[in-house]
Amino acid sequence: MPGTIPHWIDGARREGGSGRTAPVTDPATGEVTGQVDLASVAEVDAAVAAATAAFPAWRDTSLSRRSTVLFAFRELLNARKGELAELITAEHGKVLSDALGEVSRGQEVVEFACGVPHLVKGGFTENASTGVDVHSVRQPLGPVAVISPFNFPAMVPMWFFPIAIATGNTVVLKPSEKDPSAALWIADLWKQAGLPDGVFNVVNGDKVAVDRLLEHPDVRAVSFVGSTPIARYVYENGTRAGKRVQALGGAKNHMVVLPDADLDLAADAAVNAGFGSAGERCMAISALVAVGGVGDELVARIAQRATTLRTGDGRRNCDMGPLVTREHRDRVASYVDAGEAAGAKVVVDGREVRPDGAADGFWLGPTLLDSVSADMSVYTDEIFGPVLSVLRVDTYEQALALVNANEHGNGTAIFTNDGGAARRFQNEVEVGMIGINVPVPVPMAYYSFGGWKHSLFGDSHAHGTEGVHFFTRGKVVTSRWLDPSHGGLDLGFPQNV
Ligand code: NAD
Repeated sequence: MPGTIPHWIDGARREGGSGRTAPVTDPATGEVTGQVDLASVAEVDAAVAAATAAFPAWRDTSLSRRSTVLFAFRELLNARKGELAELITAEHGKVLSDALGEVSRGQEVVEFACGVPHLVKGGFTENASTGVDVHSVRQPLGPVAVISPFNFPAMVPMWFFPIAIATGNTVVLKPSEKDPSAALWIADLWKQAGLPDGVFNVVNGDKVAVDRLLEHPDVRAVSFVGSTPIARYVYENGTRAGKRVQALGGAKNHMVVLPDADLDLAADAAVNAGFGSAGERCMAISALVAVGGVGDELVARIAQRATTLRTGDGRRNCDMGPLVTREHRDRVASYVDAGEAAGAKVVVDGREVRPDGAADGFWLGPTLLDSVSADMSVYTDEIFGPVLSVLRVDTYEQALALVNANEHGNGTAIFTNDGGAARRFQNEVEVGMIGINVPVPVPMAYYSFGGWKHSLFGDSHAHGTEGVHFFTRGKVVTSRWLDPSHGGLDLGFPQNV
C-alpha cells in the first residue's frame, strides 16, 4: 500500500487533512509509490503562520550564527547526497548520476550562501556632509514562497531557499506534486543542521496551494519556476497582490553550428544537451540550427551517437531514463507524430525504443528529426522531451534571426572556431544564458540564472548577486550625532555643505 507524503510545518511532518491527494509514480516501473497530500487553504495558512512566527527571531539571529547553520547544512548534504539522488531518481526517473549532478549544482548555491556576511555588507561614507555620515544596509523581507517544477526537485528549490534563509527570511516551499519527496528530505536535513523550527516549511499541493500563497498577505515574495503560462499567471497575480515576484518560465533552446565548427565536438554536445535527463531540462537543446551546408554531416554524426545510447531504469547505469509521467510521455510522442505528419524526417525514432526497464515504464528513446521547419509544432512549442529537431539555414544572419524570433530566451549555444563570430553572437542574441562551444551553459552560483523574453517574468534572475538583492531590501541611513552648532530652524531642502 503506497504511503502518504505529508507537509512539513514548524519543524515536523504534518499529515494532510484536506482529503485531497495525488498519486506519485516511479516512472521506470509505472507503479504508484505514494499519495501526496494536496494542501487546503487552511494548511497553507498554517505553514505561512509558522514562517511568520519564526521570522522575528531568525532575522535577529547573528550573521555568524546563520552561516554556522548553513555550513552544517552543506556538510550534511555533501555527506548524504547519494540518498537524495536516489529519491529523485525514484520519482523523477532521471539516471542516478544525473540526479547526483543536480544535487551538486544545488549545493553550490548553499556554498555561495555560506558567505552571507560578505554578501549583505553595506557601504559607509564618513562626513558626507559636515558631521554627517551615511550608510546602507540590506534587510530580509519576511516569509517568502518558493514554487518549483518537477524537473529539478532539489536543485531548483536550492536556487532560492539557501539565499533566502541566509539573508534572514523564512520560507514556505511548494514543490511539484509529481516528485515531492526531495523537499521533505531537505526539510529534515535543515532540522538536523540546527535551523530553528518554522524557518523552512514545505506545503505539498496544486493550484489551491499556489493561489493561496499568491494572495496571502503575510507572504512578501514569490520565487516561481515552471512553464511559461503558469509563470505569467504567478507573476501577474503575485504582483497584483503587492508581492515581489520572480517567475522563471519555459524554454526553447537553440544550438547554432557554424560551418567551421568541430563537428565531432558539436555532435557530442548536441547528444548530451538534447537527450540528457530525457530532454526534461530547461537548458536542454531542442533545436539545432545547422548553418551553411553542415546539416548532412552533422545529422549523420548525431544519429550514429544517439543510437548507441541506452534508455532504461535510472538505477541500472543507463544513459537516459523514462519521462516523468505517462501523460507527458504520450504528449511528447504526439509531437513526434505531428512533426512526421508535417514533413519532418524521423532519423532516429525513440517511439521504437527497447528499454532496459519494466514494461510499464514511461519510455521514449532519443529522437532525431531532420528537415524541421519553423512553422511545425515540434519547433514552435516547448516539448520537454528527448526530441532534437534539426533546422537548416544558409547564413549566420538567418540563424540569429531564428533564435531572436523565438518567444523564449532562456539558453542558447554557438559552436564555431571563429572567435569573431562567437563574439558577435554573444552581443546580438536575445537570450539570457549563452554557451560558446558549451551546450548547457548553466551559470555558477555566484552568477545569476535566468532567461529573457517569456523565459522570465520579473526583473531578478536566480541566485548570485541578483538573488541576494531579491531576498533583501535596501535602507540608507543618514546620521548626525548631537552637536549644538547644528541647531536652528531651516525649512529648505537638505543640502550638503
Ligand atoms: P508547471 O508549470 O506545470 O508546474 C510548476 C509549478 O506550478 C508546480 O509546483 C505546479 O504544482 C504549479 N502549477 C501547475 N499548474 C498550476 C496552475 N494551473 N496554477 C497554479 N500553479 C500551478 O511546470 P513543470 O511541468 O513542473 O516543469 C516544467 C516546466 O518548467 C518547463 O516549462 C520548463 O521549461 C520549466 N522550467 C524552467 C526553468 C527556468 O529556469 N526557466 C527551470 C526549470 C524548469
